[in-house]
Amino acid sequence: MVVGGGAAGLNGALVLARSRRSVLVVDSGAPRNAPAEAVHGFIVLDGTAPSEILARGREQVRHYGGRVVFGELASAEPAEPVAGDPRFALTLADGRGVSARRVLVATGLRDVLPEVPGLAGHWGRGVVHCPYCHGWEVRDEPIGILATGPGSLHHALLFRQLTDDLVYFSHGTRVDRDTRARLAARGIRVIDTAVTGIVADAGAPTGVRLADGTVVARRVIAVATRTLALLGADVLRVDAPGLPESQEAHNDTGLGKRSALLDLAHGADRRIFDELLDAADVVVTGYRPGALDRFGLAPEALAERRPGLVVARLSAWGAYGPWGGRRGFDSLVQAATGIALLEGDEGRPGALPAQALDHGTGYLVAAGVLRALTERRRGGGTWRVEAALAQTARWLTHGTEPEAPRAGERPGRPYEPGAWLVERDAPLGRLRHALSPVSYEGGPADWARPPGRWGADEPRWTA
Ligand SMILES: Cc1cc2nc3c(=O)[nH]c(=O)nc-3n(C[C@H](O)[C@H](O)[C@H](O)COP(=O)(O)OP(=O)(O)OC[C@H]3O[C@@H](n4cnc5c(N)ncnc54)[C@H](O)[C@@H]3O)c2cc1C
Repeated sequence: MVVGGGAAGLNGALVLARSRRSVLVVDSGAPRNAPAEAVHGFIVLDGTAPSEILARGREQVRHYGGRVVFGELASAEPAEPVAGDPRFALTLADGRGVSARRVLVATGLRDVLPEVPGLAGHWGRGVVHCPYCHGWEVRDEPIGILATGPGSLHHALLFRQLTDDLVYFSHGTRVDRDTRARLAARGIRVIDTAVTGIVADAGAPTGVRLADGTVVARRVIAVATRTLALLGADVLRVDAPGLPESQEAHNDTGLGKRSALLDLAHGADRRIFDELLDAADVVVTGYRPGALDRFGLAPEALAERRPGLVVARLSAWGAYGPWGGRRGFDSLVQAATGIALLEGDEGRPGALPAQALDHGTGYLVAAGVLRALTERRRGGGTWRVEAALAQTARWLTHGTEPEAPRAGERPGRPYEPGAWLVERDAPLGRLRHALSPVSYEGGPADWARPPGRWGADEPRWTA
């Protein structure tokens, strides 16, 4: 069975059908390039409408005996082997069931556009991402690069090849001195004022509106999209309804996550939780060791129930030391590990300017989980990650050297966090937040969704 009948799925199906395999393609009919008028840069087919290419592809697959049907795959489970040969039981969203020996997943990518009012409506026409796909069509136009991260510089230099009239909207991303110099050398103007909307006339963009009300005339906006949330995970935070969380704390930590409330002592909620657990790859708990054992959430109990799971446990003091059973949170750990003393003044305790132990430990957990998932993929197994704020504090206070100043930073000057902050619209208003410290060339620049209202999401997986 081939899941997804875009260019990749149909090509796979064509080769398999010609190899006399019995092939079924199931496609939900939403190829990535659907908004584009024509496909370009594809020899022989240059200028052909995407829908026409797919129609011809389906015809060719059918010509060799393959079947192509409209439908959406909802689940795929390993089924009883037939004569020792493994099978999959696949269910479509409309309830139809299929059994297959092999599954080729060709479901494509999902483009996530920055949340700028008016942008999404022009996607694939006045708002473009790929200089090779649409560049020729927008040549010599006034083009704006809407930056989403470090990769946007590369984007700008590619689009500069197509027009002399290029503006780089940094839109909260960091543009260091070297980058500014490179852009200036190519005649690219940089605008740092935040973008608040796209202005259009007769269905096509005419300008980019800035936070100060100015409109910069642009016919085309090029944007590097992100594909899925920061690193692709569907993250659902589950809390007990009786243990309220401050919305402000959630605004700070809820980026890219959804948040739902479930009372594990309550039968109906417990059943929902168990269903979530059955489909989860990773469970992260943030309570003191032992506190969740009565719900069957001890790492050993989870591993027994779901072999192959990655279980990460984050606590204040760790499971192994004398304070393992105690409650704790960032500020208490800062006090106990001497940070309050180091940061204090004239006998008064101080604190780090941010909840660095919470955030730092969270990123260490994320790194541990990624490592565990990689190892699981390579060799299988059930994995456990343990992290403690106290251990992070120890690393922070022993042997961590300050980073060398980056280009453009002047040592000795008061710390200027502006380059690491970004603003965006969130369900609860305009939100200013720190960028993720995880960044790499071509990687995601920001989280796909801002934090919503704590506890307001449906307790289900979306991916
Ligand atoms: C606006 C735009 C313009 C582009 N222009 C060009 C261009 O000019 N030239 C070029 O070479 N490339 C272009 N690209 C890139 C090109 O679209 C992709 O490389 C190509 O579509 C990838 O094919 P695919 O089969 O992997 O994925 P897709 O074309 O996205 O197809 C995936 C299919 O899987 C289906 N699917 C997803 N989930 C399920 C499920 N659970 N069950 C069943 N079916 C499912 C989807 O409905 C979809 O039909 C463009 C991209 C965009 C966004």
